[in-house]
Amino acid sequence: MKKIETMSIHDGYDAKQLLGSVSVPIFQTSTFEFQSAEHGEKSFSGEADGHIYTRIGNPTVDVLEKRMAVLEGGERALAFGSGMGAISAVLIALTKANEHILCSNGLYGCTFGLLKMMEEKYGMDVQLTDFTSEEKIRHAIKENTAVIYIETPVNPTMQLIDLKKISKIAKEYDIPVVVDNTFSTPYLQRPIELGCDIVVHSATKYLNGHGDVIAGIAIGTEERMDEIASTTRNNIGAVLAPFDAWLLLRGLKTLPLRMDRHCDNAKKIAAKLETHPNVEAVYYPGLDDPTVYKKQMHRGGGVLAFDIKGDKYNAQQFLNALTFVKVAVSLGDAETLIEHPATMTHAVIPEEERTHMGIKDSLIRLSVGLEHWEDVWKDLEVALDTLS
Ligand code: PLP
Repeated sequence: MKKIETMSIHDGYDAKQLLGSVSVPIFQTSTFEFQSAEHGEKSFSGEADGHIYTRIGNPTVDVLEKRMAVLEGGERALAFGSGMGAISAVLIALTKANEHILCSNGLYGCTFGLLKMMEEKYGMDVQLTDFTSEEKIRHAIKENTAVIYIETPVNPTMQLIDLKKISKIAKEYDIPVVVDNTFSTPYLQRPIELGCDIVVHSATKYLNGHGDVIAGIAIGTEERMDEIASTTRNNIGAVLAPFDAWLLLRGLKTLPLRMDRHCDNAKKIAAKLETHPNVEAVYYPGLDDPTVYKKQMHRGGGVLAFDIKGDKYNAQQFLNALTFVKVAVSLGDAETLIEHPATMTHAVIPEEERTHMGIKDSLIRLSVGLEHWEDVWKDLEVALDTLS
């Protein structure tokens, strides 16, 4: 097998088949002409190959999907118009009304919002669980558990969950495990190799890496992905546009390079934050307890979180004192981005549940960019000093 640095540039595409164009062509079309009426009929019945309509499939998007399937070690990938598009399509396809969904104790705000909506509309039983011990996991599984849904690192608390342990237990009960791998990307963590069933991404983040696309990806077995493609993706229709797929293919070429720099920078910033008198605690993979980190992550990633000494107003005062570090949600861009989860990305979660997840008003999430880390630290340090 080739190395990820090579796969992220080449896999899924043969230039010779497309007039030698080394850059993947953008098939900016909504529909495809059939060779004849009979060919149209065969295309719809599945007897003939070829494209029908871009919501069902598009050659530029196909290349991205093939590349992502290889990178995550799955059989088939599906691209979506957003990370939430991917997550909704997967969760709706895997569940029926009144079933139980077991989740990590911490979820991106809109994933939490989606699950709450499924609870209210379809009678789902959604349970956020502490996955730290085997006993707790077994205890939480019910007869009607349809799916286990995990973020690791958890957004934004950076808690890690042992994917190998969970997938081993889930297999005994025949429950699919879905992992949101947005923070790590396949360069740092490969959940399918650890026994998990489906990987989802907000490709808006590191996979694209340049802050100019909203996109999602889901990867899994051919059988599961075929079903999602023909049901929830096709019928709900949160598909990715060909141009956005092209931007993602361009971003992917530098994924390993970018990730290494993000990791170098974030590790140095985490170490500096730990020494600052106005910082209460720093959360970064491998920093406190490296047990799970060493089992499943290649490096710590570019996101970290920290509690400042103070309340919401001090957090806002700190953010307002920054100069080039951008106060903005999202992560994985070249620019360093910083946000206040309690009032931004996780504001939809009721305060009590937020506190239970470890999201205090003093918590800050930082996506360390590709700038020189000393410049980033200087900006953070000067702003933190204003809290004294
Ligand atoms: N998953 C995680 C971990 C995220 O951080 C986000 C967005 O911030 C999403 C999913 C949703 O992705 P999108 O904004 O591309 O819909």
